[in-house]
Amino acid sequence: MAKISINIKSGTLEKEGLVVGIDLGTTNSIVALVNPETGMPEVLGRSGELLVPSVVHITHDGMPVVGSIARQALVSHPQSTIFSVKRLLGRSYKDIEAHAPYYTYRILDEEDDKLVRVEVNGKYYTPIELSAEILAELKRRAESITGKSVNRAVITVPAYFNDSQRQATRDAGKMAGLEVLRIVNEPTAASLAYGLGMNTSETKTVVVYDLGGGTFDVSVLRIEEGVFEVLSTQGDTYLGGDDFDRVIVHFWLQFMPEALHAEAHKSLRLLAEEAKKQVCSGREFEESVTLSDENFRLTLNFDTFESITRSLMDRTLDCLHMALRDAKLSTGEVDDVILVGGSTRMPFVKQRLADLFGHDKVNDSLNPDEVVALGAAVEADVLAGNRNDILLLDVTPLSLGIETLGGLMDVLIPRNTKIPCKYVKSYTTSVDGQVKMSIAVYQGERELVAENRKLGELLLTGIPAMPAGLPKIEVTFLLNADGILTVEAKELRSGVQQNIEIKPQYGLSDADVERMLLDSLSHAKEDVALRMLVEARTEAEQMIYTVGRFLEKNAALLSEDEIITTKQRCESLENALSNPDKDTILQGIDALNEYTRPFAERLMNKAVSSALSGTHIDNV
Ligand code: AMP
Repeated sequence: MAKISINIKSGTLEKEGLVVGIDLGTTNSIVALVNPETGMPEVLGRSGELLVPSVVHITHDGMPVVGSIARQALVSHPQSTIFSVKRLLGRSYKDIEAHAPYYTYRILDEEDDKLVRVEVNGKYYTPIELSAEILAELKRRAESITGKSVNRAVITVPAYFNDSQRQATRDAGKMAGLEVLRIVNEPTAASLAYGLGMNTSETKTVVVYDLGGGTFDVSVLRIEEGVFEVLSTQGDTYLGGDDFDRVIVHFWLQFMPEALHAEAHKSLRLLAEEAKKQVCSGREFEESVTLSDENFRLTLNFDTFESITRSLMDRTLDCLHMALRDAKLSTGEVDDVILVGGSTRMPFVKQRLADLFGHDKVNDSLNPDEVVALGAAVEADVLAGNRNDILLLDVTPLSLGIETLGGLMDVLIPRNTKIPCKYVKSYTTSVDGQVKMSIAVYQGERELVAENRKLGELLLTGIPAMPAGLPKIEVTFLLNADGILTVEAKELRSGVQQNIEIKPQYGLSDADVERMLLDSLSHAKEDVALRMLVEARTEAEQMIYTVGRFLEKNAALLSEDEIITTKQRCESLENALSNPDKDTILQGIDALNEYTRPFAERLMNKAVSSALSGTHIDNV
């Protein structure tokens, strides 16, 4: 397939164009590019500021600010400064609930499986929008340094990211005005940075040990004929360098009176990090601090640091052993170990890994903060067609998906996915007693199916009549090596099934593909905004429907006043539906949600007491 790139500003097609690699990190993000002169990947940035903190501050007038300036607002404006947005990407509130106290900003605690949203000053932001701000900053940075437009990128994600998290990352890229050529696993990128996998005749087994500021991941990869397979992953999404700092703070606290502990906790954190870095570089740490007019001398040496943090280090090795066990491998079968993340600079990390695998197997010559971005740049270079020594697997030129509520395109196979491939996704009905479902298949990059190309439609009939949301309809897209797509739909409870075969490329010239891509990029921003509006409307409509049904069935549980207020809130939400501003609709949903939440609890209590007294109650 021909590779093209599109200049978003001028709207013209370019055969040449920069393709960058982006490490979108939890704490910091980096953009890198292969230097055409040296053929080597390089991080883009001015010296001293190669990392962009992954922090978005929303100013009081609603403007997003990204990077080091935003990071400074973490302490002064905790409620309007979003950090760790990567932990929220593609997640529902249920997924992150256990860690809710960790966030200083408001995350809407909606109870169902919907993706989370953040609220700042009455405006609602999805993690996709916030990540897009970070990506846009990296794009601007790359453009200002190279003086060229940057519109294509490879973005890395943790190997354990699921489809929803990967799709969210892809959407964030699109929103930032980038065509995402591929989403690459972070351990794969780290391996590429060390040149592993470039020689397609060799087979290698690689362990990637990634200890960052707040997260720990270990992955075992098998690289064969240039194809990377993740054999296993393990980790702890809340274990990192910050925890080592915390142990130092606790160590110091034992020398202070208890009355000062709360104050000391806050003020010693940064000092602890400084002490950690200092002892890791071979110098003893000593510093005086004054807390409530009392002076304390804080000291730390390397041996003490190693011994008080040994249990944290052991935890990472336990994960590593689990990952090896899952991959059914012994340490002797591993060819290379790669160190990623700033915390691998702690000398005992390398030492303990060398003890396990052998000194010569540990790769740490590249900067551990940069290695993922460098690898992403290498992959970007390959996908841009700049290297003919590497075989590129065949990919789909345009995304394939189906129409969902509100006429939205739901992508099952994203463009540039290697073929053959198979994707499965589950859907359900939106109306009670629905017995058939039409599945319309589309090809293209636009958010609304009306703007894409319809390939075919299949009708699944014979779904047993059930309440909305209960049937489980599994849609499978199977794209074979010849580019033939088979779509299959099956209702799992009854087993009814339908399938059709489609040739997606049929009748599409290269020029058609280029035009469809160009359209999708030049409309990316408005398309994504429209998608969010349609999603908000659909959500509001469903909520009005559910609350209406609740009122019909359970009016006895509510007081007269409550019924009136609920109806009023439903009405104002109904009125907001015609408003083109998604935030107004989301505010209406939020208000209705807050108000009706206690009702559900009452219903539960009623169900429990009825169950106890042996009476039967209706399903809601
Ligand atoms: P990352 O998320 O990969 O940027 O990792 C940042 C983490 O690495 C933070 O917890 C830092 O304290 C830690 N770190 C950075 N440099 C060093 C160093 N020289 N020694 C020990 N830890 C470090």
